[in-house]
Amino acid sequence: MYRVRLFATRHSRAFEWIYKRVEQVMVALDPLFARIGYNRVEHPIVLIEKGVKTLLFDCKMCGQCVLSSTGMSCPMNCPKQLRNGPCGGVRKGGYCEVKPEMKCVWTLGWDGASHMKDGAAKIREVLPPVDRSLQGSSSWLRVSREMAVLNREKRDAARMALADAFPEARLQEPSSAPLADEPPKATTTGRGT
Ligand code: SF4
Repeated sequence: MYRVRLFATRHSRAFEWIYKRVEQVMVALDPLFARIGYNRVEHPIVLIEKGVKTLLFDCKMCGQCVLSSTGMSCPMNCPKQLRNGPCGGVRKGGYCEVKPEMKCVWTLGWDGASHMKDGAAKIREVLPPVDRSLQGSSSWLRVSREMAVLNREKRDAARMALADAFPEARLQEPSSAPLADEPPKATTTGRGT
């Protein structure tokens, strides 16, 4: 759907916004996915992701989506599958060297990135090579799972920092002792214990 692909890069700002919302929903669903089992939800999510992204971006389900870094233009549509900018063969008017009827995905990507909030900076970042072992898997699920793990680690670190601060705070200022339930670490160390 070449025309839809062009539409997506022209409206990359809106798609950037939608993508962020989808990501938030997927991260929020992490406890549910974990309960059901990520391996079980993979297949239905792949079907949804493939359907939506094939229609909008001519997605090839590489499993490591970089649309937010490429102005919403899928680099897997480049006949040479270049992930870090165009080759030296871009034709006059920004057309592809291999498929002259098609705009180079990188000229589209550059236009798309210029409309996006973070696009101009992100398109300059060097992307890693494609990991073919991820082909066909859900990028949405993998990224949201990684983000959920990261969020959990941050929350745990904040809790530990709080637990570490309780005994010290009690020594300095006993009246500052918290009224809420304290983490076990806070009640086993510090003043008189
Ligand atoms: S970068 Fe990969 S996952 Fe993203 S649209 Fe292209 S083929 Fe699909």
